[in-house]
Amino acid sequence: RVVVIGSVNVDRILRCPVLPSPGETVLVTDATQGFGGKGANQAVAAARMGATTRLVAKVGADADGRAALDDLRGADVDTGAVLTDAAAPTGQAVVMVDPAGENSIVVVPGANTRLTAAEVTAALTAARLLPRDVVLTSGEVAEECIRATAAALPADGTLWLHNAAPAGPLPDTRSTGRRPLVVANALEACQLTGASTVTDAVRALADLTDGAVITLGGAGALVAADGRITELPAPAVTAVDTTGAGDVFCGALAAELARSTPLVEAAAVAVAAGAFAVTALGARGALPRPADI
Ligand code: ADP
Repeated sequence: RVVVIGSVNVDRILRCPVLPSPGETVLVTDATQGFGGKGANQAVAAARMGATTRLVAKVGADADGRAALDDLRGADVDTGAVLTDAAAPTGQAVVMVDPAGENSIVVVPGANTRLTAAEVTAALTAARLLPRDVVLTSGEVAEECIRATAAALPADGTLWLHNAAPAGPLPDTRSTGRRPLVVANALEACQLTGASTVTDAVRALADLTDGAVITLGGAGALVAADGRITELPAPAVTAVDTTGAGDVFCGALAAELARSTPLVEAAAVAVAAGAFAVTALGARGALPRPADI
């Protein structure tokens, strides 16, 4: 099983002839709606890769929240621990895209910020985590929720993956005796460690954590664990849109680890899953099933 603690957003994608400058008004050429949020994207990707997947998150008591829940259920994600909070709207991302594919994004975190440590603890206790389960957190949930996750993990087993995106300080979980296996892209890895090269960042992260997986876009990924660094090149694909590639990577990695696949092999599957994801438009444009890998 995979348990994701994360964010749920409804994305409004606005195609603009040019991105508006301060003070400028532009008319969109097309407006569509999609579903996003790192947590929701990762959960949907893990479920598609065959893992029994539960999401711990919060949405508003509104039409967006109901639509996001329907979308998650349709993707076979267990939404029993997705709470509804009437005090804030469902998270929203307004994504403006110009004809060259350049974007500007505004996020309304809304109900995502109202998920509390106590709610995360209750959800993880109710989940009765087993040694083979994998728990996945990301930088889109409050640090107190990440600390609550670390504290709720059973003493043995139950792998904890933390996707350090957006890059914030690594949660201080020393008092819980648990450190995550961290997944970050090259930029996030450098920001987290203060290193100026990816090689230095990988070594620094591996020292701080229980292992590190650094994604390198079209160049694949690096895995640093047990004193070794392994390079995993990505298959060559025609990249159409890289939005959400990191989320698919994390969801697939969690699903594979939950099947007890060793880390380097699981990361190789995640690299292929990420490459598959960039072949279509949108964060959820191409979600691989195991046979696609
Ligand atoms: P993020 O989306 O978090 O910035 P990356 O850009 O590093 O993360 O992409 C995550 C993964 O997606 C990579 O490790 C790789 O497997 C895959 N990927 C991304 N861009 C490409 C590409 N141009 N060609 C093939 N695979 C890609």
